[in-house]
Amino acid sequence: MHCPFCQFADSRVVDSRTSDDGQSIRRRRQCPRCGRRFSTSETASLTVLKRSGVAEPFSRDKVIAGVRKACQGRPVTADQLARLAQQVEESVRTAGRAEVDAHDVGVAVLAPLRELDEVAYLRYASVYQAFDSLEDFEAAIALLRAEHQVSGTVSGTVSEAPAPAAEREQPAARG
Ligand SMILES: [Zn+2]
Repeated sequence: MHCPFCQFADSRVVDSRTSDDGQSIRRRRQCPRCGRRFSTSETASLTVLKRSGVAEPFSRDKVIAGVRKACQGRPVTADQLARLAQQVEESVRTAGRAEVDAHDVGVAVLAPLRELDEVAYLRYASVYQAFDSLEDFEAAIALLRAEHQVSGTVSGTVSEAPAPAAEREQPAARG
């Protein structure tokens, strides 16, 4: 591995440790020429299979690019998006497979995005899950409301929020 400081073509490992979750190895290296130290991180490569059949390496940047549009105009910071991409990567890596479908990556986005911003979540879900009617939105919103009620009974911080609007009607049965 080249030294990132002086570009010397070799470096020496001085320390190596596995991360707490066992999914990466971090190495401290020292350059024998300039003596400076730097770290490298080694993780199993993770391949994403797109619907077209194309395989490409998992990329947090691509996750962020996919979510950013849904977050337009919403109070979501770049840091929060970076954190979300990290959560998505952790969640797809937890499955322990070397290859995942692009669909699975999309599924892994839903939960952390819902935590971050429900409007962005609905936008993302509407594209990702191909909502094609108002009923699809109503069903998704009804689910969010139902979960607010559940979490309100568990979490003290949520219970101070105003009660959700009374359920006026059940979502119309479809089909
Ligand atoms: Zn060096």
